[in-house]
Amino acid sequence: MSERAPRVIIAGSGPAGYTAAIYLSRANIPNLMYEGLQPGGQLTITTDVENYPGFPEGIKGPELMEHFRAQAARFGTDIRPGHATAIDCQGPPFRVTAGDEVHEVPAVIIATGSTARWLNLPDEDDFHGKGLSACATCDGFFYRDQEVVVVGGGDTAAEEATYLAGICKKVTVVHRRDELRASKIMQQRVFDAPNIEMAWSRTIKQYLPDDSGMLRGVLLESTKGEPELEVPCTGCFIAIGHDPNTGFLDGQIEVDAEGYIITRPDRTMTSVEGVFAAGDVQDSVWRQGVTAAGTGCMAAIEAERWLGARGL
Ligand code: NAP
Repeated sequence: MSERAPRVIIAGSGPAGYTAAIYLSRANIPNLMYEGLQPGGQLTITTDVENYPGFPEGIKGPELMEHFRAQAARFGTDIRPGHATAIDCQGPPFRVTAGDEVHEVPAVIIATGSTARWLNLPDEDDFHGKGLSACATCDGFFYRDQEVVVVGGGDTAAEEATYLAGICKKVTVVHRRDELRASKIMQQRVFDAPNIEMAWSRTIKQYLPDDSGMLRGVLLESTKGEPELEVPCTGCFIAIGHDPNTGFLDGQIEVDAEGYIITRPDRTMTSVEGVFAAGDVQDSVWRQGVTAAGTGCMAAIEAERWLGARGL
């Protein structure tokens, strides 16, 4: 299939991108994927995935994404390294640039995901998979009956803290100010939970490892000159927001106030006909691997129908 000129280019390779690729290839639509610099996306920085249906014993995030990739490759998707660096949306055809490569295709699927914001502390990378997470729904279960920390003061932090309070022994919410940004109702849930404690006006200064390098606590500093404080925890959930990866679109596609691509109701079509979006780049709410895969499937079927209806 890869010897035929692509009719669809997929930008991005998380569950959304690979699923779109599988569906396109099986519909005999030649497609080319630029899988980015972190093939497989955010799931490749998680360890055990226990909520992706079909794996009753759970599966490692990187292994799950290897399966997705192998399935897309098996049906003929031309998978290439690197990013789609620019898309000229004056089309169809759309001109897609990836480094030195330039293609003209009648349809594009954007599945570039979003990037969780981290605190960017010096030793932060050492704790991925060792206590540090950006997703309570994904990883909360591993900290059942344990003490955890949530960082942030928005709706995500409030939601994650409330979710974790139902699983964990104690949740400490670390927020850099003395009031939450979260909606009042979400705040109230946090304040009502008996096992959530607030650490107001504090930020994490340092992650503290145990002898085997697993997280055992965090050292907090105060923004108000209070003494430093050590909080024991085996899990630390950073909930300070996500950034959708849309910079390369150069403002040509309509996005919402947070920068997420707006798709038409119940569709994956964007504000530009022939450009579709799937996965976290258009989803600030659900952000799950399985929902990303679902919208990847939708984008492929919608693109197929759209191309078919126009004889493209
Ligand atoms: P957000 O609203 O931007 O909140 C980010 C939080 O992280 C803020 O409290 C911010 O502090 C803090 N923060 C940012 N950078 C930080 C840093 N470097 N160090 C420490 N703290 C930092 O992000 P979000 O909570 O992910 O929500 C994003 C959007 O999704 C919002 O519109 C939200 O309403 C929506 N959402 C809705 C729901 C729901 O309705 N169920 C659930 C989740 C998200 P400051 O407050 O001091 O700025």
